[in-house]
Amino acid sequence: MKTVSSLLDNNWHERYRKIATLNIRSSIYDVTNQCNLRCKGCFFFSSNEHQAASEETDVGKWSRFIQKEKERGVNLAILIGGEPTLCLDRIEAFYAQLPTFCSTNGQIKIPRDRFPDMMMGISLWGNEEDEKILRGKDTFSVSSKNYQGDPYTYYLYTITPKQVGRIEQMIRKIADVGLKVHLQLLSNDEKVDGFSWTEEKLRDVRAEMDGMLDAYPKTVISCKYYHEVITTGRMMNRQFGWAECPSVTEPMDNRTPRPKRLIRFIRWASDLKTVHRCCTSATRDCSTCKDGAAHMSWIMVNKRDHLQSTKDLQNWIEVYEMFAKLYRFIPW
Ligand code: SF4
Ligand code: SF4
Repeated sequence: MKTVSSLLDNNWHERYRKIATLNIRSSIYDVTNQCNLRCKGCFFFSSNEHQAASEETDVGKWSRFIQKEKERGVNLAILIGGEPTLCLDRIEAFYAQLPTFCSTNGQIKIPRDRFPDMMMGISLWGNEEDEKILRGKDTFSVSSKNYQGDPYTYYLYTITPKQVGRIEQMIRKIADVGLKVHLQLLSNDEKVDGFSWTEEKLRDVRAEMDGMLDAYPKTVISCKYYHEVITTGRMMNRQFGWAECPSVTEPMDNRTPRPKRLIRFIRWASDLKTVHRCCTSATRDCSTCKDGAAHMSWIMVNKRDHLQSTKDLQNWIEVYEMFAKLYRFIPW
């Protein structure tokens, strides 16, 4: 087999060296079952995960649980929900002990004096028109005011099939408020009419995502190999799906043969006892899953397969760098 050194020049080898030692061990936590929105296609509510467990409300118990997670080797806490910013004391319990990323709809402004460098990822589901259909309101007008120019915040822009051909409008708006953006694709869990992907739409969106990266390299945090893999569902002649997914909760992972996977990954419910099947909806059909983090992780855990050529390994490095930037393990 080819080696990393034989495939990379000095510049790429230096980039490789910076990420090779990161050893990221993430897990995901439902901070709350409540949300101040109810989006159509939200994986949490559409699969009734908000009813899977009753919330632990004692912050002391959260703190002790987080200490145990740390001892389990977790070095990145990804907070989701529901809407985590409804429970700032629970977020604070994580932030005090672990590098923390908070996923939010951005309708509540977190106090930066309490969380000076916590990474925030604001969900965005398209332009004003799409957001009104899918989320009941234009969230961007509120979130962009709350987080304008914040150096530790970016948009997680979920592109819907209806957005194809007009993604730039939102990228420009995001650039104009001094924020960055990462692109992912809607998995139409609630089968909203007109929001399912076709082969043609996926081809078009890939080209458009590539174009946005070229046109807005300082705003878009992404890379073309990620666009290829998420739109085709294919990587090194393999097909994404249940048999390959790396983001399955480890104690529930009974697949044989077991694929390469995220080590010690667990997605915890808000009672701090119940676990969910994977990083997204337990009822989602894996063959239609477009989860961005799962596709990214799929690439990252399969380094060995990318030792076939210089280009393959460079692709792998770019995806790893993208992930590390999104969670601020390396600077933007
Ligand atoms: S804001 Fe997020 S958690 Fe709340 S309903 Fe929408 S997608 Fe679900
Ligand atoms: S729904 Fe997606 S993230 Fe969950 S197990 Fe299936 S492929 Fe993986």
